[in-house]
Amino acid sequence: MVKVRLEDIKRKFNNVTAIEDITFEVPDGEFWVLVGPSGCGKSTILRTIAGLETATSGNLYIGDVLVNTIPARQRDVAMVFQNYALYPHMTVAENMAFGLRMRKVDANVIRQRVETVARSLSLEHLLERKPKQLSGGQQQRVALGRAIAREAQVFLFDEPLSNLDAQLRDDTRAELKQLHQNLGITTVYVTHDQVEAMTLADRIVVLNQGRIQQIGEPQSVYAQPANRMVATFLGNPPMNILPAKYKNGNFVVENQIIPCSVHVRNALHLVEGQAVDLGIRPEDLFINEPQKNEEVIALTVEVKVVEPLGRETLIRASLLSSSVQVNIQQAGAIRLRLGDRLSLGLDVNQLFIFDSN
Ligand code: ADP
Repeated sequence: MVKVRLEDIKRKFNNVTAIEDITFEVPDGEFWVLVGPSGCGKSTILRTIAGLETATSGNLYIGDVLVNTIPARQRDVAMVFQNYALYPHMTVAENMAFGLRMRKVDANVIRQRVETVARSLSLEHLLERKPKQLSGGQQQRVALGRAIAREAQVFLFDEPLSNLDAQLRDDTRAELKQLHQNLGITTVYVTHDQVEAMTLADRIVVLNQGRIQQIGEPQSVYAQPANRMVATFLGNPPMNILPAKYKNGNFVVENQIIPCSVHVRNALHLVEGQAVDLGIRPEDLFINEPQKNEEVIALTVEVKVVEPLGRETLIRASLLSSSVQVNIQQAGAIRLRLGDRLSLGLDVNQLFIFDSN
């Protein structure tokens, strides 16, 4: 097994820069997820690692080998695509054997290897079928099986779950995680789905507009997002963003006031009248009863939509004098009607403060 290192990788298509300043190293055996909105450059990075794309500049190492000019098929990486890219005229067994056959591995060794891998993925009863006789989930497992059978040193996944329905996607995601725990193969996985990123990754690389925004363990990126883009991208429902002004030691949100600690003011060098964006995660807001607890710092909002989700209720509300939306996640069922006024308590220590843009 090997590490994968990207050093200042840039890729331009004609005059358009798709990715730049891409530098990171995936340690041997780790599972890294590249995540970000469509068009941010995830696939270009993955395809560059695979050798399907050539970097305009920068260096790429697989293990200790500089592979910039080494063609895809000699890189010892296995890529699983969104559409699985199975050969339609071949059986499952032939598809899984393909990479080994190309490498002229002995036929008996291939057969044994395919059977072992098929068993580990519960595919052994499907070996003689053609891809079109399989469900989406089964095709996905064959594509995985083909990658495993090749014994590649690096796995690359490009949105491998996006063609599966919700339940199968959850199951396959869990299978993938288990598989990685068993095999421990260095993996780079691309998705725009933050749940996949958070649940699968040892580390996530958040990308936007071709550049890395933040690299870290999922929980720490969630808890300490580097900027507003990362903060609003990770989290569902997304973080609330409230435009505010810093005045007299407070944040003024419309005509409502949230105190700002001296510590925050000094750390951020806030100046009187400065516009900022306050970020509050929906799960950090709670319904407050002002009569009972006057100490609580709260915002008053008007209820717009109530969505009971069983274990919790999602409330969409807006500030009183504007259309600024606030999402709140509350445990359990809640009786509220459209137009109800709510006092929403918050903890100023859970507040994120971003430059206004
Ligand atoms: P993602 O995988 O995050 O959706 P991509 O890596 O596919 O993003 O694309 C990044 C940017 O590069 C996009 O603006 C896309 O239009 C552009 N791009 C990707 N491939 C090509 C190509 N072959 N020719 C021209 N532009 C491309």
